[in-house]
Amino acid sequence: MTTLIHRLKTIHTQIRQAEINYQRHTGSVLLLAVSKTKPASLIATTYQAGQRHFGENYLQEALSKQQALGAFDITWHFIGPIQSNKTKAIASHFDWVHSVDNLKIARRLSEQRPSYLAPLNICLQVNISDEASKSGISLSELAELCEQVTTLPNIKLRGIMAIPAPSDNFEQQCQPYKTLYQAVKNLNKPELDTFSFGMSDDLNAAIAEGSTIVRIGTALFGSRHYG
Ligand SMILES: *Cc1c(COP(=O)(O)O)cnc(C)c1O
Repeated sequence: MTTLIHRLKTIHTQIRQAEINYQRHTGSVLLLAVSKTKPASLIATTYQAGQRHFGENYLQEALSKQQALGAFDITWHFIGPIQSNKTKAIASHFDWVHSVDNLKIARRLSEQRPSYLAPLNICLQVNISDEASKSGISLSELAELCEQVTTLPNIKLRGIMAIPAPSDNFEQQCQPYKTLYQAVKNLNKPELDTFSFGMSDDLNAAIAEGSTIVRIGTALFGSRHYG
């Protein structure tokens, strides 16, 4: 438990230091704690240390943790692949969705967003290093999907999310984020203010290239055990 709090502080220090090093505004990078496979008790501990934003990949797992943590004022982010039969529950139980990669899913999320809730914040997932993941649109599809999604009433398009191919070279880590950041700026839509860039192993490169949300799992909660 103390390890967790220590790691949380270390990540905050790393983020603040990267903001200074790369001339980013203080507080412009949000920490999203990625809690997939981790129990609700660890989320509670992290919450009590001040963390408010949590990210989950698997719907059923997320819903049971949300139920256990109902008393906590958590902002929930869905960051995993989305099947169309899951959109109703996602639209009802999350504040953000980072992994939208087609119009059909975006339409369903908008239609199914309950009217008593604020519009759902979404990011489009862009696949920049094609071999890394099956999810995400290509960069050439970004402008058109942005136009289409912007017209949907109950979702609010905020920006993009990316998971580049891993690299342990800083310059190589920066390159895809630089390309994506510029592509979004070229769309000339000031409402696109969110760059969901960076995980445990490339947080500095992501912040250097404009990240506003870093999604950190392993560096905070330790390695994951599936099964
Ligand atoms: C699991 C996951 C993360 C966290 O990755 P770590 O390397 O453990 O920090 C971030 N983003 C997405 C989309 C994930 O699925």
